[in-house]
Amino acid sequence: MIRKHYEIVKNDIAGKADLCIVSKHRTTDEIMEYYHEGQRIFGENRAAELKEKAEVLPEDIEWHFIGHLQKNKVRQVVPHVSCIQSLDSLELAALIEKEAARENRIIRAFAEFHLAVDDTNKTGLSKENAVSFIRECAGYAHIDLCGIMCMGPHTEDEAKIHSVFAEGEELFRMLQKEFGSDKIRTLSMGMSDDYRIALEHSSNMVRIGTYLFEDDQ
Ligand SMILES: *Cc1c(COP(=O)(O)O)cnc(C)c1O
Repeated sequence: MIRKHYEIVKNDIAGKADLCIVSKHRTTDEIMEYYHEGQRIFGENRAAELKEKAEVLPEDIEWHFIGHLQKNKVRQVVPHVSCIQSLDSLELAALIEKEAARENRIIRAFAEFHLAVDDTNKTGLSKENAVSFIRECAGYAHIDLCGIMCMGPHTEDEAKIHSVFAEGEELFRMLQKEFGSDKIRTLSMGMSDDYRIALEHSSNMVRIGTYLFEDDQ
C-alpha cells in the first residue's frame, strides 16, 4: 500500500464518499494490507479473479463487481458479491435475479450509464432509458437497484471531465426525485485520475486502484 496516497484519499473523501478500492490485478497480500487498515469494500472486474480472491480472503469483505459482466459469468459472480456496479442490460438483470434467488439473497446493483459521448468505452445504458430501466428492475425481488455508476471520459481536459460528471450528477438527482433518495442512494463516480472532480459533482462512492497501489503519479 502507499500510505501517503491512502491518507490523501481518505482526507479528500472524508464525510463525502465511500471508498471502493479497486484490487484487480493485485495480490491477496496487497488487499490484506488495506484490510488491516479497516477497508472492507474492494472492486474486481473479472469473474474468475474475484471468485479466487473471495474464496481465500475474509468473509466480511464487501466485493463489488465493477467490470462488464458477461452473462455466462453471472453464476460464478453472484455468490461472492454484495454489489454489482455494472448492471447494463435487462437480460443481465434477469440472470442476476435468477441466481440471487437461488442463493436466497438480495444483491445490490448500480445501473451503469454511458455518458461520455466521444468515449471509447461504450458499455453502459443511455440516460434516456434510465427511468424505464429502473422501473423494470423494481420487479426483481432479489436485486436492490440502489445507485448508478458512471465513468469519466478518457481525457486530461478537465472541462470535459467536469461536464461528464455534471451530467452524472444531474441524472442521479433526477432519479432520486423519481424513485426517492432512500431508494437511489449511491452515485459511484471517480477513479485515480478524476476522483477529485467527481467529488465536486456529488459522487458518494469513488473507485480507486492505481493511485493506492502504484507510486508513479
Ligand atoms: C480499473 C477501474 C477503476 C480504477 O481505475 P484506477 O485508474 O486504477 O483508479 C475504476 N472503475 C472501473 C470500472 C475500473 O475498471
